[in-house]
Amino acid sequence: MEKLKQRRSGGFTLAPEAASERMRRIINKFIPDEDIINTTREIYRRGWTTIKLYFMIGHPSETLEDVQAIADLCKRVIAEGRKVAGWKVKLNAGVSTFVPKPQTPFQWVSSDTRESILEKQALLKRELFKDKSIKLSWTNPDDSLVESWLSRGDRRLAEVIYTAWKNGARFDAREEGRKFDTWMAALAEHGLDPSFYTHRQRRTDEIFPWEHITAAVRKNFLFQDFRMSLEGQIRVDCRLNCFACGILPTFANLRREHPGEGWKCPEVKTPARKMEMELPLVGD
Ligand code: SF4
Repeated sequence: MEKLKQRRSGGFTLAPEAASERMRRIINKFIPDEDIINTTREIYRRGWTTIKLYFMIGHPSETLEDVQAIADLCKRVIAEGRKVAGWKVKLNAGVSTFVPKPQTPFQWVSSDTRESILEKQALLKRELFKDKSIKLSWTNPDDSLVESWLSRGDRRLAEVIYTAWKNGARFDAREEGRKFDTWMAALAEHGLDPSFYTHRQRRTDEIFPWEHITAAVRKNFLFQDFRMSLEGQIRVDCRLNCFACGILPTFANLRREHPGEGWKCPEVKTPARKMEMELPLVGD
């Protein structure tokens, strides 16, 4: 922090991502509240006036209590900041919406619904708009739905993208470029139900459209991570304990050609293994 202070400019960003203990276990990012409070207090004390905290809503099994914890944590951070640096302190709470992605432990889960996201955002606005020192930003649920279709889409979406583009969809991430109805019309034109891509829990025997592309991490390793997350089990930092996720054999040759400190995984000692597929059958 001392080194950062020498080049201090703008705010200081931290990404707790979740604020309740239960949700932190689910996303495997267990940072106790006290660590966040102590760190943010120290940041304010050292002269930064603005801290940005980055969160996500819409994680699997998230409840309103988990979202309330985000508001409570923000209020605590600003209150502690005022104790050490006065009323000039500010907090930017960036709350985006979680979108399940391929090649991750959450590739099987359904996205949160628009109604649920709106309810969670309303709670945050109700709680945080009261304090003028806290600035809240969030993601438009329509943007998250488009991101969701495109993230876990199959080849049929190629035609949808082309149709939406022909009909004017260009810069949907920008407020003035948003063309949600154009996307809906394009999906309908090609006979596709958007909820097939977004609001559907995948079975574990489903073959995903992205499986011919490997990110080197084994599918059953991802599934194990997913189950651990649902059970609230934390997986420790794998640099301390390798779990043989699958990338070692994939990058073995590259690593031999380019050795160095940058590789944090343990040494490759075994020849490449074939991918094991032992997923238990789970899902609708
Ligand atoms: S240390 Fe490397 S090989 Fe082991 S689990 Fe982590 S990323 Fe995978």
